[in-house]
Amino acid sequence: MEHNQDELKEEYEKICFLCRRPESKTGKMVEMGNNICICRECMQRAVDSMQASGLSYQDLLDMSAPVMTAGQEESTDEDDKEDKDNKDSKGIKIPNISMINLSDLFGGMGMGIPRQQQVKKKKPKEKTAEKAFDIKSIPAPHKIKASLDEYVVGQEYAKKVISVAVYNHYKRIGTGTTDDIEIEKSNMLMLGPTGCGKTYLVKTLARLLDVPLAIADATSLTEAGYIGDDIESVISRLLAAADNDVDRAEQGIVFIDEIDKIAKKRNANQRDVSGEAVQQGMLKLLEGSEVEVPVGAASKNAMVPMTIVNTKNILFICGGAFPGLEDIIKERLNKQAAIGFMGDLKDKYDADPDLLTKVTVEDLRNFGMIPEFIGRLPIIFSLKALTKDMLVRILQEPRNAIIKQYQKLLALDEVELTMEEGALEAIAEKALEKKTGARALRAIIEEFMLDIMYEIPKDENIGSVRITREYIEHTGGPVISLRNVTPQITCK
Ligand code: ADP
Repeated sequence: MEHNQDELKEEYEKICFLCRRPESKTGKMVEMGNNICICRECMQRAVDSMQASGLSYQDLLDMSAPVMTAGQEESTDEDDKEDKDNKDSKGIKIPNISMINLSDLFGGMGMGIPRQQQVKKKKPKEKTAEKAFDIKSIPAPHKIKASLDEYVVGQEYAKKVISVAVYNHYKRIGTGTTDDIEIEKSNMLMLGPTGCGKTYLVKTLARLLDVPLAIADATSLTEAGYIGDDIESVISRLLAAADNDVDRAEQGIVFIDEIDKIAKKRNANQRDVSGEAVQQGMLKLLEGSEVEVPVGAASKNAMVPMTIVNTKNILFICGGAFPGLEDIIKERLNKQAAIGFMGDLKDKYDADPDLLTKVTVEDLRNFGMIPEFIGRLPIIFSLKALTKDMLVRILQEPRNAIIKQYQKLLALDEVELTMEEGALEAIAEKALEKKTGARALRAIIEEFMLDIMYEIPKDENIGSVRITREYIEHTGGPVISLRNVTPQITCK
């Protein structure tokens, strides 16, 4: 039994008896005996309040010296007399208080805190072999782009820009500031319609570089003191992603999505706490400053320890779809086109799918971003809306393409899955209709694969399945072939 208890102790984290936070959050605990642990912060607080009330540690020891047991509770006259003697010889004796063994209260749990309130220790994370680069000797931009190519389809320009920016950024960190030429930070602003791969690009990059990444949503951010997340909470998320390692966090990447939602509100009479004020609040983060962030929590409060993170080397990437920005760009282009010899047709830009690539800082200002904010995001680029061809490629080309995932799943049952070219196109066409970019692909595939994943394992003779265009369009079925049998069966 004793052995078991020890094993459990190894498996579960120590928990502070007072604030109930686990050791992974509080740092090393002080063991108080009786299997009770107290975190340093609570310990400090206890000592502080003790000193404030004029007690010294010696007083405390004196107080606890005479221990009463349950048998002594009913005192007789004789006892009283003895008590007096005791008082004289040992100091104060507190009546009706017995020092109990707190750990006994919890049924011999052995750890002072009930099991259901304990957190199992995290297993040390196995280092994934995916880390492709070392940020200390960052490879040339073309190599970064080649690695991105394996995952992200198309978006050549965006991949190129981001590779160069990341290369410069980590090079800047690597060299430090030994001479007077200080290389400026290359924060980025990424524009592009929803589902075109903005988040995916950043996630892939962070994974390849093996740097911590925090993804925040600008819509939830508000000025400090208002309901919503403080702006600095993005840094505390980054710290969490870096396993509370401040050095690692300070070289991480913060991706702030939906940045267009913090544009200045037009005709706002009240204080714009989630728009302009957030942009103002982000200025110092983007530029590089020391922020005090809570460790292991999203908001500051008395119970949470704080630490200081310097954002000087944190790469900020902001992304957004900027709906309505195209109209602003179009208006500007039309105005230019209407002047002088360059006169052009008025509707020239109406059908241009890549208007966003023509964005200028002025357009963003007209959209509602404040100049100081845009000024701190020197690299502005846009991603293209996905075309049918790109969607077809996304289905099958990336390393973890959806079709490859299903093929692997069925291969476990020794069934071969193939897709006809027409079927892939039909899926892409359906996804285009939904206007949510590549995000629609998964939903469409899940829908028609359900029957296949349900039916195929029923029959062990099935050797392969071919998905046809008709099956996607609900006018036919997949082609199913049996093992070692040549004739093919078409399901209706
Ligand atoms: P958003 O641009 O709205 O941030 P996401 O990056 O979240 O869109 O894209 C949603 C999903 O679509 C991703 O998880 C990814 O699987 C897929 N996807 C989008 N664009 C691409 C692309 N260019 N190449 C490969 N997959 C993509």
